[in-house]
Amino acid sequence: MATDISARDRARWVELVEQIELHRRHYYLQDKPVISDQEYDKLFRELILLEEKFPLLQTADSPTLSVGGAKAEPFEPIEHLTRMYSLDNVFDDAELESWRNRIVKDLGAEPVYLGELKIDGLAVDLVYRNGMLASVATRGDGRVGEDVTYNSQFITAIPRALTGNPPKLLEVRGEIYFTLADFDKLNGEVVALGKSAFANPRNAAAGSLRQRIDRREEEIVKATNNPKTSTAKLASLRDDLTHAQRILSSLQLTVHGIGAVEGVELDSQSSGYKLLADCGLPTSMHYKVGIDPSEFISYWQQHRHDVEHEIDGVVVKVDNFELQAKLGETSRAPRWAIAYKYPPEVVTTKLIDIKVSVGRTGRITPFAQMQPIKVAGSIVEMATLHNQEEVKRKKILIGDTVYLRKAGDVIPEVIGPVVEARTGAETEFEMPSKCPACGSKISAEKVGDVDLRCPNAQSCPAQLIERLFYIGSRSALDIEGLGQKAAAALVDEGLLTSEADLFNLTPSSLEKSSFFTKSVAGELQLNLAAEKLLAQLQIAKSRPLWRILVALSIRHVGPTAAQALATHFKSIEAIATSEAAELAELDGIGEAIAISIKEWFGESWRSQIVTSWSKAGVNMIAQQQQQQSQELTLVTVVITGSLPGFTRDSAAAAVTDRGGKVTSTVSKKTDFVVVGENPGSKFDKAQELGVPVLDAAGFEVLLTAGAQAARASLGLS
Ligand code: NAD
Repeated sequence: MATDISARDRARWVELVEQIELHRRHYYLQDKPVISDQEYDKLFRELILLEEKFPLLQTADSPTLSVGGAKAEPFEPIEHLTRMYSLDNVFDDAELESWRNRIVKDLGAEPVYLGELKIDGLAVDLVYRNGMLASVATRGDGRVGEDVTYNSQFITAIPRALTGNPPKLLEVRGEIYFTLADFDKLNGEVVALGKSAFANPRNAAAGSLRQRIDRREEEIVKATNNPKTSTAKLASLRDDLTHAQRILSSLQLTVHGIGAVEGVELDSQSSGYKLLADCGLPTSMHYKVGIDPSEFISYWQQHRHDVEHEIDGVVVKVDNFELQAKLGETSRAPRWAIAYKYPPEVVTTKLIDIKVSVGRTGRITPFAQMQPIKVAGSIVEMATLHNQEEVKRKKILIGDTVYLRKAGDVIPEVIGPVVEARTGAETEFEMPSKCPACGSKISAEKVGDVDLRCPNAQSCPAQLIERLFYIGSRSALDIEGLGQKAAAALVDEGLLTSEADLFNLTPSSLEKSSFFTKSVAGELQLNLAAEKLLAQLQIAKSRPLWRILVALSIRHVGPTAAQALATHFKSIEAIATSEAAELAELDGIGEAIAISIKEWFGESWRSQIVTSWSKAGVNMIAQQQQQQSQELTLVTVVITGSLPGFTRDSAAAAVTDRGGKVTSTVSKKTDFVVVGENPGSKFDKAQELGVPVLDAAGFEVLLTAGAQAARASLGLS
């Protein structure tokens, strides 16, 4: 034990305690944290390590010895019948292993573990006497919580009376939370009211539960009795109350612990859950007894988005009560349980700037440039903000600390600002009036449009780069050598001023570019990028007609519309010369797309693209597509998870190219479910219904050799 504590260590201890207490106040009392949970956990971990090194530093009121969240005004205090604890955390397999080793050492053998989801909500304590709800309290400091019994009457998930044969006294612990759908809805409403969004479902649940509904009701009574109150004021007070009650009613409850009990003997956590379920209390569907902790943890890490509510990890508990008692508790957390926390999905970072990008169709999109930060497993530094209205709606300022998450685990999304962290130096974003790439005046295409556009479609270099990149994408012509960098080089180095000349690129034209050349013994030669591009351009010329149509970047004409057009008209010429009414009649086209097609062919520089491509030998008729489309006719496929070498669209296009059908729901009629990395619940559904499941290799077989070969690869006839 180290005793010679330096002044620096002492000062750091004081600093950490002050910071943790400050953040606990923001988090537990105001439900508005100013740092991410990950940053808080880091501070807390540092304090634990410092106190482990210098035990003399630890005072009786150190945060490491207490459950965060003191009892707070404006609620009445209520004493729990038995103590409520927090949980100790581990963040990786090595930490889990050392927790398990301690358990085995203390018990002499490995116990039976029970695994549960760690719901990101707010802990509550419910007391039932003779089967009737007597009180509901928040956790508070673990001994005394806040009395929220009055508010809980609006929470439909909390039973007033227990069913079956309830014990005389039953104290249960559980989590109050929002489903993700309700959380998103609530945040939308909160932002619309001009308030800042809740960082996570836990803060939203706590903020919603800890409102004095009774005081609002009293206010309405007073206002009603006051003849000076205007009808409008009274109506607004009533609306506010109804809104608050409605939000309370959408809160959910899942019970995960038992406190004081009288009138029944229980020997394990799992038998306790059976009793709670028999009493009509909502237990989790996902708990499992006799788990291998590591397997349980990794299963849920992959399936965390299949649950209807947010989880920030899983909890592993020793199931047997006698063994739990033997292990006991510290003053903060039980030794018989551990929370394994997953990498955070909401983090805070600095919004350095808001810039704008110019898209393929001229759309000007503001995007956030942030201090790089790891979220849900990868480093993020940019996130789209969609349009200027969205920037206003989110109320973010340049220089703000912002909450950032990965929506659906892939796309980074700025949730909103941490208003409390503002310094006053933040500045408002102003949408530029000119295109940053070509200087043209930007404007909405028509009155009422939110999006602003650069009108210079023909020669704005940014739009041309994006169109070229799109031509190369898997949704269009799938040209491997035509990525973002190659597209930018072709435009920036003056090799192309229009996509019309793309197929006229020659070795000698590419020789003029530094991107496509290398120096060998002082002599410039074409590099691999150039060779790949030239070879791939040749292959791309004979792609099916619908892909050529997609590559033209006609507004609203994506793969589905392009396939309908190609199948019906069979040539670009027929499409170009048909009347708008005839186009609009086609299934999947309609008036807006028909107008946009007519406009596109009506512009001479655009129709020049078709002429030039045609001269260069690019396929302009539907023949080839028909030949290919026989392979997967009548085959229905569902695709879930990411497949190497494919985007969501291109994997679907690979099936539809061959005449197959791609749907989003798995049913008995589905022929194959193709499962990539991180598959969703569709995989489970496929197994449940016995639908053949193909992995990436099986998908390749399906595409190259057809449905029968794919079934055979699974050992099916
Ligand atoms: P915790 O949330 O890490 O774990 C304990 C809680 O987990 C319990 O009280 C219970 O309510 C809940 N829980 C959910 N599912 C459960 C289950 N199946 N079984 C048992 N319990 C379950 O601990 P805490 O003390 O409530 O909060 C500490 C955490 O809160 C920190 O690790 C941090 O993530 C966050 N925090 C953040 C800030 C901030 O400023 N960002 C400040 C304070 C706390």
